[in-house]
Amino acid sequence: MEFDETQQAMEGVIRDFCQREIEPCILEIEAGRRSTFDLMRKMSDALDMESLVTSGAIADPAVPAILAKELARVSPGFALAVISNFGCGATILTRGSPGLVERCGIPVLSLKKTGCWALTESESGSDAFALKTTARFEGDEVVLNGSKAFSSNAPEAEVLLIYARLAGGGQGDKRQIFPVVVERGTPGLETGPPLEKFGMHASPTGDIFLDDVRVPRENFLGDPDRPARDAAEQTLSGERVVIVAMCLGVIERCLEEAVTHAIQRVQFGKPIAAFQITQQKLGRMYVVHENVRNSLFELIRAQKAGELTERKVSAAKWYATEEAANTALDAMQIMGGAGYLREHVPERLFRDIKLWTIGGGTSEIQQLTIAKDLLRQHGFSIDLAGGYRAKNDTAAS
Ligand SMILES: Cc1cc2nc3c(=O)[nH]c(=O)nc-3n(C[C@H](O)[C@H](O)[C@H](O)COP(=O)(O)OP(=O)(O)OC[C@H]3O[C@@H](n4cnc5c(N)ncnc54)[C@H](O)[C@@H]3O)c2cc1C
Repeated sequence: MEFDETQQAMEGVIRDFCQREIEPCILEIEAGRRSTFDLMRKMSDALDMESLVTSGAIADPAVPAILAKELARVSPGFALAVISNFGCGATILTRGSPGLVERCGIPVLSLKKTGCWALTESESGSDAFALKTTARFEGDEVVLNGSKAFSSNAPEAEVLLIYARLAGGGQGDKRQIFPVVVERGTPGLETGPPLEKFGMHASPTGDIFLDDVRVPRENFLGDPDRPARDAAEQTLSGERVVIVAMCLGVIERCLEEAVTHAIQRVQFGKPIAAFQITQQKLGRMYVVHENVRNSLFELIRAQKAGELTERKVSAAKWYATEEAANTALDAMQIMGGAGYLREHVPERLFRDIKLWTIGGGTSEIQQLTIAKDLLRQHGFSIDLAGGYRAKNDTAAS
């Protein structure tokens, strides 16, 4: 399968922007001397993101996938900043009132305002819905209390999408999880400084604190009378598809860098590409590239057809993220000492892409999710907390 003609043209335009505008200054961005978000706004204008949003073109899953792939070829950290905006903006666009869509949804999705989405808390990571942050109704307002951990873009976000448990729904009720929009400047809202981390330096990560934060009723995106956490599940599922696209970008670029280096670098009087052990690595990288590419197209097809299953997404995310990290390491190895230097691309791509074996649901959680779905078909139910119930079994563990 291939991207269609229009999508290939878009791929070319985005690649050109990334090479011209992002790649030359990525080391300065990573060092904090230039702002990711200034460049993101420049990208918004250059690609006319607002038209992509208002025309509805962005709803085609191929569009965010192409953007994520092309950005990740240069900087998965920059791509993370962009997809975090998407996670926030898309939820507001599909669930918000017309006023909220106009003020927050469109500007965030078209990358004119910075957004973040915050589900994780200090005590709920893999157990993603065991939230302590609460939302309660008071007259025409919603009051939020709690805190969020590890939120991408949070230190600079102007629009924060906070997932909260409906107060009164019972402590530990994991079904009543709703997104609530909070704008920077709202009394009681604070964000922490950027956390120091291994990679993804182009995307600041931080904590969020909510102390009696009051927002209008319309900022609560859902029906409190219908227990639901579908908004969070949809965002996670959509995020996992663009993560696979980011992995494809990293694999593509690492393969290109490794082939070029292997042909140019001479040792023992021969290009290192002449050594079969180098060829074996290149062969393995190519196979991974083909698998991840095919898997991305299948996810895009299934998403368009409304056939995306948890199992499919988890399998693709697990394979792509583990193998993208391995492929970046292979490229570093082929490049020898040069591969270990910051000035060469695979070093950055490895640091960044490693996040995705953890963020958006760890590799272990993806494996459990696949097994849960497989076993259910055979009448054997498990949950992620280790509980199980076999067919006709009355005593569950
Ligand atoms: C740079 C960065 C950016 C992030 N951005 C965001 C964001 O924008 N929004 C957001 O909401 N979150 C974000 N996160 C949070 C991220 O999604 C979580 O870190 C991730 O889901 C893992 O949660 P945890 O860190 O609490 O790990 P834990 O849940 O504590 O897991 C620790 C280990 O235990 C394993 N484990 C846990 N449960 C099980 C089980 N049942 N069976 C087997 N093994 C298990 C895990 O696989 C892992 O290896 C971000 C994280 C980072 C590092």
